[in-house]
Amino acid sequence: RQSRLRTLVDRPARTRDGMEIRLQANLELAEDVELAKANGAHGVGLYRTEFLYMNRADLPDEEEHLANYSAMLGALDGRPITIRTLDLGVDKHSEALARPGSNVSNPALGLRAIRLCLKEPELFRPQVRAILRASALGPVRLMLPLVTSVHEIDRVLTIVAELKRQLDRDGLAYDAAMPIGAMIEVPAAALTAHAIARRMDFLSIGTNDLIQYTLAIDRLDDAVNDLFDPAHPAILRLIRLTIEAGRALDVPVGMCGEMAGDPRFTRLLLGMGLREFSMQPGALLDIKEILLDSDADALARRADQFFARLDESDSTDLLAVFDAA
Ligand code: PEP
Ligand code: MG
Repeated sequence: RQSRLRTLVDRPARTRDGMEIRLQANLELAEDVELAKANGAHGVGLYRTEFLYMNRADLPDEEEHLANYSAMLGALDGRPITIRTLDLGVDKHSEALARPGSNVSNPALGLRAIRLCLKEPELFRPQVRAILRASALGPVRLMLPLVTSVHEIDRVLTIVAELKRQLDRDGLAYDAAMPIGAMIEVPAAALTAHAIARRMDFLSIGTNDLIQYTLAIDRLDDAVNDLFDPAHPAILRLIRLTIEAGRALDVPVGMCGEMAGDPRFTRLLLGMGLREFSMQPGALLDIKEILLDSDADALARRADQFFARLDESDSTDLLAVFDAA
């Protein structure tokens, strides 16, 4: 089976009825670029940048960020990369920062990700400046984690506009049209996906946190691990809302949570209209095998039937309607 999967590496990711799908890799370390390429990734749909901050006593400066992103672009040979701004807090910490979340009762609901960045702009600005500068070197998108309200987006866009003026003054190049997107990983963001999509160039659904926050299940707590259920109707409805908001405004919607690399859901997600899947590189060929054998049009009709019956039956049983479509 592994050798059969290997034969799919260079096959275009296209459904039987000709729908182009983007299969991208999630990366945590620059070294994993080779793994992404070996598995035929179109690009990097989620580059987690927290490692730049961890296991050290100081903070990375703009030049260090830029050197890292530019090396990534070089290794990717023209493939696009989506760089997520830092998502520190809860499970990922930096010694150089007072540990947000270490002495509060609900760290997952605390000062993390974009919230931390907006509170401490000196942490955020060097990274955003470096991402802008990297956009002059290759196809780069900037992605914001844990967006909860449009006010956060408006503040980020103001900062980006300021930094662009600064770069102009400094005579440093950037791509003026670099796409900026939001992760949809808080229920409030999914429920207001329309307003968010109006301000953003793309959306990416982060199911790991979306499930945690929607089902009130700590994603790191083994005692409730069995309740962490991507097939919960509430999760499926929030995903659907997000995809439909993007479609209505012509804003591309992808998924970069674990669910995107889970073969149980590939056909349902294709049927719901998802066209960009980003996952750990090791899952890419399994997912490609499924989509090569799928008919997106037929799956769209099945997805409608699936949602029409969602209140009557167990969603896990209902998923059987996608077998062999
Ligand atoms: C997610 O929450 O689904 C996600 C992709 O981000 P992370 O796992 O880094 O929180
Ligand atoms: Mg997340």
